[in-house]
Amino acid sequence: MPTTITHWVDGAPFEGTSGQLADVTNPATGVVSGRVVLASERDAQHVISRASAAAPGWATTSIARRTQVMFGFRELFNARKDELAVIITAEHGKVHSDAVGEITRGLEVVEFACGVGHLLKGSYSDNASTGVDVHSRREALGVVGIISPFNFPAMVPMWFFPVAIAAGNAVVLKPSEKDPSAALWLAALWTEAGLPDGVFNVLQGDKVAVDALLDSPEVSSISFVGSTPIAQYVYERASRAGKRVQALGGAKNHMVVLGDADLDLAADAAVNAGFGSAGERCMAISVLVAIDHVADDLVDKIAQRARTLVIGDGGTARTDSDAGEKEVDMGPLVTRAHRDRVAGLIASGEEAGAKVVLDGREVRARGEADGFWLGPTIFDHVSTAMEIYTEEIFGPVLCVIRVASYAEAVALVNANPYGNGTAVFTNDGGAAKRFETDVQVGMIGVNVPVPVPVAYYSFGGWKRSLFGDTHAHGVEGVHFFTRGKVVTSRWIDPSDRPQGGLELGFPRND
Ligand code: NAD
Repeated sequence: MPTTITHWVDGAPFEGTSGQLADVTNPATGVVSGRVVLASERDAQHVISRASAAAPGWATTSIARRTQVMFGFRELFNARKDELAVIITAEHGKVHSDAVGEITRGLEVVEFACGVGHLLKGSYSDNASTGVDVHSRREALGVVGIISPFNFPAMVPMWFFPVAIAAGNAVVLKPSEKDPSAALWLAALWTEAGLPDGVFNVLQGDKVAVDALLDSPEVSSISFVGSTPIAQYVYERASRAGKRVQALGGAKNHMVVLGDADLDLAADAAVNAGFGSAGERCMAISVLVAIDHVADDLVDKIAQRARTLVIGDGGTARTDSDAGEKEVDMGPLVTRAHRDRVAGLIASGEEAGAKVVLDGREVRARGEADGFWLGPTIFDHVSTAMEIYTEEIFGPVLCVIRVASYAEAVALVNANPYGNGTAVFTNDGGAAKRFETDVQVGMIGVNVPVPVPVAYYSFGGWKRSLFGDTHAHGVEGVHFFTRGKVVTSRWIDPSDRPQGGLELGFPRND
């Protein structure tokens, strides 16, 4: 029997009143494993108002106590994270090791936020003017909304909520309706860690829930991650409602391989970054830009490696490896509709004349026949006019574009409307340094194909990959989830008080 996946409010599950439910499917079997409740506007208002009630008490809880709760959450999370990985694999489809990887990167942000005492320190200037001191302070916003995509059901929310909570805010998280259970697991863990009820809440749902968060005057900020059209919509609507917004959108990440690169290293990287998590990563490499004279060799090496990948049910991977079989490398796509869309784009690439080096539609997967399978696909001789280049495919499809020079490669990267991540593979330090300066992209890898920044730096792209100007976590995250104040004060002994009488002139600098 499919389970009901609820909201979470006031430290407990909440079924809501809408009566609306959506199926949640195990992508490796095609079987409906749960039904997630979809919030009505009234449900959303209820959850937001409970967060609003909890926010002032949490904002005035001492930093010492907030730090203890953060450390408590970190310890529980670390001890039990395998449970979360199993939940992610069952609803998303990614293999267990990849689910553990996502969790580990999310945990980094919790660890960063454990240093909240340091992160929230203001500055102080004694005697800025004679007898006048100045200090700055940062305060919590109140209720903050987080809206997340399907592809990282734990890590993406964790880019935001550890910092938001440590800074004294109350959170309403709206997860993807495709894999909503991870959020509930995280919510229960917060309660166990001693977070007061109402500080971390989960609002399940679709556009109705999102719009309620965007419009509610009780919600101060929106952190969104998802596709570009929805990111732009969220940015515009929430900004109009007076909120601060960071809306991270889609991507088309290019990996540039220069003529002097180590081709084996580059081929390993292209396979890992192109096909890991079935290409359903915002930092996946979907375009490989190869300098002409190395392209033939490089494509051969990539194809040889891609042919060895085992596609199958990520949930059974560990059992199979226990029995001596090679572990599954890549799971299914998230839904049947998404699998069919990607297969349709592969057909369009073939029709447009790109050379099909490897066709994922012919995959033989280790798993149930009804799973949403698609194998790794490689296209060579792709042009920028083809739909497989202009669309974000978000599947295991690698497009190779050949160029004559470094300048042509950089021009190609910069002409793309997205600017999330990119990588250069080279043994020439000067070329790498030049690339770093020349590309208009937010996150850059040098011989690193998926350059996701560590938690104490900030994550975010340029151009149509980010609406708003604040990236996630790191110092930018702390600033996003707090508001600054500057206090100018004069405390002087009454006997020293100047007796100058009224003075309407502009204050003097002395
Ligand atoms: P999506 O845009 O379909 O959904 C994201 C969120 O928006 C979900 O919570 C969903 O319920 C909600 N939503 C969907 N349609 C909506 C609508 N019409 N109105 C209001 N809300 C709506 O994205 P997805 O398919 O879940 O995730 C994949 C996308 O996310 C890809 O484009 C990927 O590149 C992007 N992504 C980007 C980053 C990044 O860091 N830039 C990270 C992860 C994923």
